[in-house]
Amino acid sequence: MRQWTATHLAKLARKASIAAGKKGTDLPGQVARKVDQNILRKLAAKVDDIVFISGTNGKTTTSNLIGHTLKANHIDIIHNNEGANMAAGITSAFIMQSTKDTKVAVIEIDEGSIPRVLKEVTPSMMIFTNFFRDQMDRFGEIDIMVNNIAKSISNKGIKLLLNADDPFVSRLKIASDSIVYYGMKAHAHEFEQSTMNESKYCPNCGKLLIYDYIHYNQIGHYHCSCGFKRELPKYEVTSFSASPFLGLNIGDTTFNMKIAGDFNAYNALAAYTVLRELGLNDDSIRRGFESYTSDNGRMQYFKLNHKEAMINLAKNPAGMNASLSVGEQLEGKKVYVISLNDNAADGRDTSWIYDADFEKLSEQNIETIIVTGTRAEELQLRLKLAEVTVPIILEKDIYKATALTMNYEGFTVAIPNYTSLSPMLEQLNRSFTGGQ
Ligand SMILES: [Zn+2]
Repeated sequence: MRQWTATHLAKLARKASIAAGKKGTDLPGQVARKVDQNILRKLAAKVDDIVFISGTNGKTTTSNLIGHTLKANHIDIIHNNEGANMAAGITSAFIMQSTKDTKVAVIEIDEGSIPRVLKEVTPSMMIFTNFFRDQMDRFGEIDIMVNNIAKSISNKGIKLLLNADDPFVSRLKIASDSIVYYGMKAHAHEFEQSTMNESKYCPNCGKLLIYDYIHYNQIGHYHCSCGFKRELPKYEVTSFSASPFLGLNIGDTTFNMKIAGDFNAYNALAAYTVLRELGLNDDSIRRGFESYTSDNGRMQYFKLNHKEAMINLAKNPAGMNASLSVGEQLEGKKVYVISLNDNAADGRDTSWIYDADFEKLSEQNIETIIVTGTRAEELQLRLKLAEVTVPIILEKDIYKATALTMNYEGFTVAIPNYTSLSPMLEQLNRSFTGGQ
């Protein structure tokens, strides 16, 4: 009865919360946990496999990729895919998504919430992506955090899936007898950010770690005189390209993915590791991996028949240069739609476009460039100064400008600034589902 009351009230709370314009992800869990302190424990007991995904960076992408792939294989899951990764949000996911047929839960969990949530739920598997110092303000020293996590997951029979290349993550091997490692071969890829930071001491004895190879930061192939070392991975990326989308080689299998950014190769490998350990084969994994893209306008990919598009937010020179480089990496003809608004949220000063490297557009095979947004004229002027010689169309309506790109065969490269993102994304979603 208490469980029924708790879930019923939680569902009402979600409705009320959404009606009030909020996302409704934490409140139902908060309400239910007040009524029934054991609600999460009870709901979790009904699921066969619970996978927790944690680490400093990449847990949302990893968890979404796992969730998408399971769904692509018609497997029902409980999934906190709205990034609600603390106790209340996790409880909400179980309440809102549990059905009698749901046997797998894929749960992203904040590193700081592990001790609390592990008191209520014992996952069958936990995967850790990486530990970086950027969150240490919240958790104190990295070693203390890793030891606290180890303490709360020890002796529970949890299978740990660990990034062999991160010494802080692989330190967690002290917490279980059942460990699967994943990692990347040396020279698998030249990572963009390959500088070494200060996190290079052995988590076992405190001496300096010796590195044979560094992918980036402390991620690489290391060993220590105390015996602590990078373990051999069961799942290994042999090489990958990012031009701009990932072409990922794991063992003998290649996945042509629709996500970009070299760090995402580790997230894809982490997701692959979970999916294989859940029993999926490479063909089933491909079904999810080759159809997954982001949905937030950051390197988001679209395809309808032979027409393809990519949208990437750019609100400063670095972002614009990155988006223009993406165009450089795409083969064949391109059509650009670039938008510049000067609403309050964008910042009224748009002079930053003069620091962006539009000159590099003259080296690309471009059918046309459509400029749009409240400051479209300024973009047009900027392109003229860059001596870009392709036809330029000025269309101030962002919806119309974006829809226009469908008239060209080339790959659409859509670059909105902040307040241009939503209309541009809306139009692309419409155009690529066959609407006007
Ligand atoms: Zn050592």
